[in-house]
Amino acid sequence: MNPATMEIPIDQKVLAFIGAPRKMLIGGRWLEAASGKTFPTYNPATGEVLAQVAEGNSIDIDRAVIAARTAFESGPWHTMTASERGRLIWKLGDLLESHLEEFAQLESLDNGKPVGVARVADVPLAVDHFRYMAGWATKIEGNTIPISVPYTPGARYLSYTLREPVGVVGQIIPWNFPLLMAAWKLGPALAAGCTIVLKPAEQTPLSALRLGELICEAGFPGGVVNIVTGYGETAGAALAAHQDVDKVAFTGSTEVGKLILKAAAGNLKKVSLELGGKSPNIVCKDADVGASIPGVSSAIFFNQGQCCCAGSRLFIEKSIFDEVVAGVAEDAKKIKVGPGMDLATQMGPLVSDEQQRRVLDYLESGFSEGAKAVVGGHKLGDRGYFVEPTVLVDTTQDMKVIQEEIFGPVVCAMPFTDLNEVLPAANDSIYGLAAAVWTSDVGKAHRIAAELRAGSVWINCYNIFDAALPFGGYKQSGWGREMGHAALELYTEVKAVTVRL
Ligand code: ADP
Repeated sequence: MNPATMEIPIDQKVLAFIGAPRKMLIGGRWLEAASGKTFPTYNPATGEVLAQVAEGNSIDIDRAVIAARTAFESGPWHTMTASERGRLIWKLGDLLESHLEEFAQLESLDNGKPVGVARVADVPLAVDHFRYMAGWATKIEGNTIPISVPYTPGARYLSYTLREPVGVVGQIIPWNFPLLMAAWKLGPALAAGCTIVLKPAEQTPLSALRLGELICEAGFPGGVVNIVTGYGETAGAALAAHQDVDKVAFTGSTEVGKLILKAAAGNLKKVSLELGGKSPNIVCKDADVGASIPGVSSAIFFNQGQCCCAGSRLFIEKSIFDEVVAGVAEDAKKIKVGPGMDLATQMGPLVSDEQQRRVLDYLESGFSEGAKAVVGGHKLGDRGYFVEPTVLVDTTQDMKVIQEEIFGPVVCAMPFTDLNEVLPAANDSIYGLAAAVWTSDVGKAHRIAAELRAGSVWINCYNIFDAALPFGGYKQSGWGREMGHAALELYTEVKAVTVRL
């Protein structure tokens, strides 16, 4: 761990926020859980309790859904113009930006990520997302459609479509980018005119709750956004199964995604899922090796490897295999691992003891099956949930470390001889979230991009996100696309209206 610390003091506003038990936002009011219970959220850098949060269950979900239904069907949100909705979303982006430091610290304390990263990535991306979606509120349009009905000869019609909000939406989000995932979910749903019950991850509920305060300050009518904190198996499951929720949007593990789908079947609510990944990252011998090494390192090590699109399967053309592996291993050794609130830290702890255990179990399984660590492979220190940045070699296709999502700072490097070999191997996964290729041959780059079965393909770069770019998965990586214009489709219904002239 990094000996020279530059730990920053916790901002007074953040201290005040975490110093009191946090309540849930239901119908515009801050309420305790119906059971009166709270649960702790931990600081992953120390393992100590950071704050107490209301432990919502199915009764609280019920209260929140009623508030969301009421706000959807009557009251100011129902009659508000698209322009007014857009302005509120824009205002939320402005408010968030003006509290950037507070959110960056909350995110770092609750999730473990370096505060310096949250300052330049998580918070600004969330601000940008709200602004981007604010613009869409006034641009959700239907079409006029010429029709030719054979069984009413001579009759004339005018047909058009309306795009309407899908209704009450349940949104269940993960812990890896707590604020940003809230923004990805809330932005398009609000632009479309839906009302929402948001369920943050139990590991990281704080930034969503602080965002709830800004939602109230911005002037969103009560009940438009409700935030219920609690555990997945109780609050999350109740939301996914609720009979009066029209749509559920989920980001998290593929395993839980399948549970969400089953729970949603009861009332056939619409479902969108952004799930796991095991993304291939292909380095060809004609790549700019000097640029690709830091690129593939950050593809896996960014956010402690806790990214659904992490470049966790690294395919390297044989003649440059040793050079690239040595370069990535060198990068891994240099990464300053430490508490997120230390400005010198480049990689923080994993989010929880459970996640640390999961990653260490995967490493154990890889070693027992014959994989070797060029660098890393162990936990770091005795306090907090740290794991060394790790590069594995000598893996085979059947190993768990190749098949399953580790969701930690662990990359498996594998040599390949030609494209006919690497493309089927890259696509040989139940997942299809992201992929990347590094090459200086532009034709080859586009051929590979076309062959990869993944929702995002990066060429000579990685983890490039923009509010305007759709993101989502092929295969078991999910259903639907978030961000960009595509996200609005998740939150709207199409109505075809026909009038006889
Ligand atoms: P991880 O396993 O990495 O913690 P999950 O997919 O379990 O990720 O968690 C993502 C989100 O899903 C969290 O908000 C969590 O509370 C929620 N969740 C977990 N289990 C369920 C469930 N059975 N039904 C609904 N939501 C759940």
